[in-house]
Amino acid sequence: MTESSQESKPDMEEIVSLCKRRGFIFQSSEIYGGMAGAWDYGPLGVELKNNIKRAWWKSVVQGRDDMVGMDASILMHPQVWVASGHVATFADPMVDCRSCQARFRADEIEGDVCPNCGAKGQLTEPRMFNLLFKTFAGPVENEASTVYLRPETAQGMFVNFANVLAATRRKLPFGMAQIGKSFRNEVTPRHFIFRTREFEQMEIEYFVRPQEAERWHQYWMEERLSWYVDLGIRPENLRLFAHAKEDLAHYAAACSDVEYQFPMGWMELEGIANRTDFDLRQHSEASGVNLTFFDEEAGEHITPYIIEPSAGVDRPLLAFIVDAYRQEEVRGEKRVLLRLHPSLAPVKATVLPLSRNERLVPKAREVWALLRPHFMTQYDDAQSIGRRYRRQDEIGTPYCVTVDFDTLEDEAVTIRERDSMDQVRVPIGGLVAALREKLPPC
Ligand code: ATP
Repeated sequence: MTESSQESKPDMEEIVSLCKRRGFIFQSSEIYGGMAGAWDYGPLGVELKNNIKRAWWKSVVQGRDDMVGMDASILMHPQVWVASGHVATFADPMVDCRSCQARFRADEIEGDVCPNCGAKGQLTEPRMFNLLFKTFAGPVENEASTVYLRPETAQGMFVNFANVLAATRRKLPFGMAQIGKSFRNEVTPRHFIFRTREFEQMEIEYFVRPQEAERWHQYWMEERLSWYVDLGIRPENLRLFAHAKEDLAHYAAACSDVEYQFPMGWMELEGIANRTDFDLRQHSEASGVNLTFFDEEAGEHITPYIIEPSAGVDRPLLAFIVDAYRQEEVRGEKRVLLRLHPSLAPVKATVLPLSRNERLVPKAREVWALLRPHFMTQYDDAQSIGRRYRRQDEIGTPYCVTVDFDTLEDEAVTIRERDSMDQVRVPIGGLVAALREKLPPC
């Protein structure tokens, strides 16, 4: 029985510590002192991340009749980034401290005091700092061999517009979806995995008739907001924030962000922009390749407008963990609980023998082997059963399967549910079916 549940927000330190302790997320290159703006996903982190990406793909590609997937390369022709506007304008205004040489984004500074060393009046005027990572393709390191690590996955879809159209014979409206790594030389990476230099994105480019762009923009805002709610985020911790016209990126006619109320405040998970026909026109002009669409309805060639729901993977992952985190008091003892949606939970079921008794262990391992082809599972026989339940609660495992001495007689096991801690007894022969019924398809 749950006696009380602490609903207040965890602080980020608790989350970072849980993530490291239980193998969700580690600092990159930690044994060398770490690498700013880069994080590594451990055994549970990679499962959670894959589950988020799978849930997104299912929702925006598999489950729809108007979307197709893509996977473009990270390295692209450097002209792509000239045409897209990134080489000229993908920059943040930066302020330097003359006293300690630290550098900050101008919008993170209040007044004229350096947040690092506290010096007053030592800050420079804001200067633009380009966020593109540069490297070289081939053996010669010069201007001609300069290439960029992509700062967004979107351009890989724009430059393949004609290829995808020809291969799939789609009609408007239709969309492409892509998941992949992006890189930005962020000046102040911070808030754990919220702002990093290497991150993953899940982006949709949805091509529409220009006169229908506003309606589709509205549609995608609602669609994307409900994706987060359907996967368990409490609606009161989500909101849409519409950008003022003067704050829009160079390509956008309108943009609204899906924001989550993190411990450090309301912050962006996903941007949903109306990119107009900017990208297709730019690439058409720069490449000389026609990127229009013949609209049979209108009987003319048009350049579609693009609605772009552009989400990160890492920021939503952090939001899913923060939102699921609870501290409860159960019979006078603290239990930390990750109430992750079952389709996101890294481990679906864990098999626990009541003890390391030599008769129980082989039976428990047999049950574990029975489940492994069907679900992501764990097996745990270390320490008391109570402690093992707590360990599973803390990583969000929805079901524990306990093998006890009765199992040896009746060939049945106990399934314990994470949130209610309710227990039911089921025959081993019906265990896979019973778990399948309780879990979403995975
Ligand atoms: P911000 O204003 O926070 O820098 P942005 O508006 O530049 O973000 P977009 O260009 O809209 O971000 O990118 C789409 C999504 O990609 C973001 O909503 C976010 O989830 C993710 N993303 C962007 N930059 C980063 C980053 N540095 N670290 C982690 N995720 C990022």
